[in-house]
Amino acid sequence: MQQVRDNLFLKREDLIGEGISGNKYRKLKYNILEAKRLGYTKIVTFGGAYSNHILAASYIKKKHDIEVVGVIRGEELLTKVKENPTLLQAQKNGMQFYFVTREQYRNKASESFIIELKEKFGEFYLLPEGGTNPLAIKGCEEILTKETKQYDYICCPVGTGGTLAGLINSSELKQHVIGFSALKGDFLSKEVATLVTKVNWSINCDYHFGGYAKVTKELIDFLNEFKTVTGITLDPIYNGKMMFGIYDLLKKDFFPKNTSILAIHTGGLQSIDGMNLLLQKKGLPLINK
Ligand SMILES: *Cc1c(COP(=O)(O)O)cnc(C)c1O
Repeated sequence: MQQVRDNLFLKREDLIGEGISGNKYRKLKYNILEAKRLGYTKIVTFGGAYSNHILAASYIKKKHDIEVVGVIRGEELLTKVKENPTLLQAQKNGMQFYFVTREQYRNKASESFIIELKEKFGEFYLLPEGGTNPLAIKGCEEILTKETKQYDYICCPVGTGGTLAGLINSSELKQHVIGFSALKGDFLSKEVATLVTKVNWSINCDYHFGGYAKVTKELIDFLNEFKTVTGITLDPIYNGKMMFGIYDLLKKDFFPKNTSILAIHTGGLQSIDGMNLLLQKKGLPLINK
């Protein structure tokens, strides 16, 4: 646990694993074991152009010699792999891509689409978007340990809610778990509620900065300042927004005096290169790594 300031500590999940790091390591761990146990030689999964999950899944091919197909949102990317650091690395790791339209992607969980995938790729172990399923949640339960029981608040960023659900499951009842949504809208609380039985948690939706993967100059300035002061790099899509939120809540005295906060650094630093390419095009400051 690394102290960031006063009563705020960071669990550095960004430092675990090689290639597959952060919460994606936790989410894939039991899924890889299960795919192997069931004798699958191929995994199919889904993601967007800069997805941490897609990159993490590509390492399954490299490390475990299981074929991995990434169903990627956006047909136009087919000819742009070289300009996309995430997809380029995933391809180098041996991932096979299947680019689909946004409409096809929206229907990716439908029976007809899964049948189409089976006709195309044969039998496979299916990993949902973002990698969230019961085995992923089980893996995320292992983020909390004996050493984390002393903290009053546990904070993490939220995409699909799988990581948050795991943390809630393994939290102490006296701890409060707060997820910071990286997406606009407050539909996530409902979804997470279906995954857990405890009630010691909440989702804060105030720090999405316009929506998923959207950033502002204020956020980038914060990331760079945080890096200068602490030496820790945060990704702009998840951890940067969570940490901005925690700092803002500290300023507003949201956390009662003498309480301690443990934030989970879920990794995802690979997205910085892709984000910096976009920032450069927009003439905005870049993120220091
Ligand atoms: C995927 C991801 C998340 C979101 O995790 P969920 O379990 O989908 O909520 C958070 N942080 C990083 C770095 C991620 O890659």
